[in-house]
Amino acid sequence: MNTNTWQYADHEMALHGKEVIHTLTTAGHEAYWVGGCVRDELLGRAIHDMDLTTSAEPEQVIALFPHVIPTGIQHGTVTVMQGGHAFEVTTFRTESGYVDHRRPTEVAFVKEIREDLMRRDFTMNAIAMDEYGERVDPFGGEADLRAALVRCVGRAEERFEEDGLRMLRCIRFASVFRFRIAFNTWKGMLGRREGLRYIAMERVRVELEKMLSGPDPLRGLDMLSRSGLLACTKVSVPWEQCEGDALSGIVQLPDELRWGLLLLSCRLNSEAADELLRAWTFSNAVRLRLVHLLEWETELVSRAVAIAGDTASDEINDEVLRRSWIQLLIKLGPDTAADWLELNKVLPASFRRLSPEADKHVARMAELADMWTKQAAVIRLKDLNITGNILVQAMNRRGGPWLGQTMERLLLAAACGDIPNETEALLQEAKQVISNE
Ligand code: ATP
Ligand code: MG
Repeated sequence: MNTNTWQYADHEMALHGKEVIHTLTTAGHEAYWVGGCVRDELLGRAIHDMDLTTSAEPEQVIALFPHVIPTGIQHGTVTVMQGGHAFEVTTFRTESGYVDHRRPTEVAFVKEIREDLMRRDFTMNAIAMDEYGERVDPFGGEADLRAALVRCVGRAEERFEEDGLRMLRCIRFASVFRFRIAFNTWKGMLGRREGLRYIAMERVRVELEKMLSGPDPLRGLDMLSRSGLLACTKVSVPWEQCEGDALSGIVQLPDELRWGLLLLSCRLNSEAADELLRAWTFSNAVRLRLVHLLEWETELVSRAVAIAGDTASDEINDEVLRRSWIQLLIKLGPDTAADWLELNKVLPASFRRLSPEADKHVARMAELADMWTKQAAVIRLKDLNITGNILVQAMNRRGGPWLGQTMERLLLAAACGDIPNETEALLQEAKQVISNE
């Protein structure tokens, strides 16, 4: 056996994959590595999982291995566990009866590898490799990889008509690999883009996430807008209003914050973003992270503008800015603060269209923020060395709106360092505040 076949896959995984293939071929079936793993090996990209394809039917596969999970048995897919690694093994099959531009209603098992490769989306994804490293490549996938081209297997219009998601996969691959899209494939996409409306947003989002986390998301965004595909998603996106200049530093951001910059570049406020992210089926955690980030941006900017417009105080010192920062910190928390600082680094100042004065305040806050955050003795109410109960007893008053308000004032005073975060000092301050009212 040629052990040099896989340079970009985990050695153990490749070895166990080969064992699975060998067991199948020894039993008289055909079996191959196929799809993404073969493509990525040829491209020299790290391989995370290996899909296998075989002439054996699922029942025959199950009979040959001690540990098999029937993942998608009706579609011919089972997961074979071998040496602690999982391999999806799919029987050669064709697909037909596409309804509503997504997912086939019928699959039929076939005997020829070529027929199986024919159902796959792009030539580079339609290459199979046997246990000796021999490749089956009926549609010129290797040549297209060398030419850096994404090309449909067969007639593009038909393939995109069958399954609208392929159009987004096409742009995703072109973006992530920095490939071009073959002319007929591009043309086919333009003709069938309406089919994207039938694709569940969750699948759309997954493709866009892969595209956006890649090395050249602007390339993908550009192709999305030129193809008109963005206007054809089930849940509309206001990306036509996205300002390209704002995005120039996007690759410097971690994956999730890239979405934040994108939303911001469309000048969406946090409520609009919230609605959109829900409709786009983002997890609550990601949605809230981004919504808070946008809230921070809006609040910080409006504070900077207010400070700049405050003619009464002719000298703005860092202390005014620091107090603004601390208030935001209390409201939205240090995680959002850290996210905003990252975002701010790549956002061109001109995007905000502020007065030079306000711009200066934003920049100064960003400059000193880390120090201010570190210096804040307390940020969260629950870390304040006093509770509502203690306050109620000490004041000999019944609970009411005054309580929450007083607690918030105490938190702000302690966070700003006006008073120490100590119960006695906090009580003292509370009495002062209340007697002044
Ligand atoms: P990734 O690197 O994102 O995993 P992949 O090409 O491996 O890319 P998968 O979704 O894992 O994508 O699919 C495995 C293989 O199944 C593909 O390489 C392709 O041959 C085939 N395939 C996947 N989705 C489609 C589709 N929508 N239409 C046709 N063939 C598809
Ligand atoms: Mg894959």
